[in-house]
Amino acid sequence: MADILYMIIPCYNEEEVLPETAKRLREKFASLAERKLIAAGSRVVFVNDGSKDATWRIIQELHRTEPGLFSGIDLAHNSGHQNAVLAGLMTVKDICDVSITMDADLQDDINAIDEMLVKYYEGNHVVYGVRSARKTDTFFKRFTARSFYRFMKLMGADIVYDHADYRLMSSRVLKELAGFREVNLFLRGLVPLIGFQSCKVYYERHERFAGKSKYPLKKMLAFAVNGITSFSTKPLKLITGAGFLMSLISAAAIIWAFVVKIIGHSELGWSSTMCSIWFIGGMQLLALGIIGEYIGKIYAEVKQRPRFIVAEFINSSGEGGNSIAEKDIER
Ligand code: UDP
Ligand code: MG
Repeated sequence: MADILYMIIPCYNEEEVLPETAKRLREKFASLAERKLIAAGSRVVFVNDGSKDATWRIIQELHRTEPGLFSGIDLAHNSGHQNAVLAGLMTVKDICDVSITMDADLQDDINAIDEMLVKYYEGNHVVYGVRSARKTDTFFKRFTARSFYRFMKLMGADIVYDHADYRLMSSRVLKELAGFREVNLFLRGLVPLIGFQSCKVYYERHERFAGKSKYPLKKMLAFAVNGITSFSTKPLKLITGAGFLMSLISAAAIIWAFVVKIIGHSELGWSSTMCSIWFIGGMQLLALGIIGEYIGKIYAEVKQRPRFIVAEFINSSGEGGNSIAEKDIER
């Protein structure tokens, strides 16, 4: 038996591409249904992220003419790509079996959906769409993206290399995702944290079908900084490390200043100035680092992330010995 698929497509000022995206998805859904990869009742959900152009009107029209295929969510204002995706996912989490998120601009290869679904039926709860090549990206975009992934790894965040937000998630994973209550959303870092069996599907990234990128350099940088600071308190730890180092250097410098003084080569007041500069510098950094450690803890606490996620609970009740049906646990 095939499952119900809901596709989530965030749209911000995408009037130029939406008709084409809708057309290709219509064809794709027809072929998926024919191959029995999706059940009747599967839908494409466009999330209008506070667009200023005709995007929402196009979505309304699509829903009016084909209510059995196209649905829409209209956000009250522009909330950003990540929040738009989350809004879609949280809206459908209880009515779908499986979801796929994809950009509206057709940069992600729509034909990877088939393979994603096959992997899902093989038992994967998460399937990451990973770019096999970045031929169409500019050198600058390629370079900044690569540096970003490297830096994230270095900072200790577990993200999938060259995977954007083209991703399949089962409804089970969506229900767990709902437990992550943080406001600074970085889905690429969160989904690996949830766990469950996952795999990758490779696809070639195309040129944007029409329109301009909605991610100018400024937004891209903000996204990168958000990603790092949402997932890592390493920068704070670096301060502690620097503080320790400075304290050590300060101890050495103090000894050195004393030696110079005893030998008698120092100017009047030189040793005391030297000692205080190094000592105070080291102490300040160390103190900042210690405060940083606590801020890191507070930061982790206020996010109220789930501390664990139960994948399965097998148990038999004492008297009857009835095992709890798997469906019950799966909610
Ligand atoms: N998007 C959104 N809200 C925003 C910015 C972008 O919903 O504030 C959507 C956009 O419509 C597209 C996806 O997010 O479907 C990715 O944006 P874009 O293609 O402009 O980014 P790029 O591929 O250039 O990184
Ligand atoms: Mg794009």
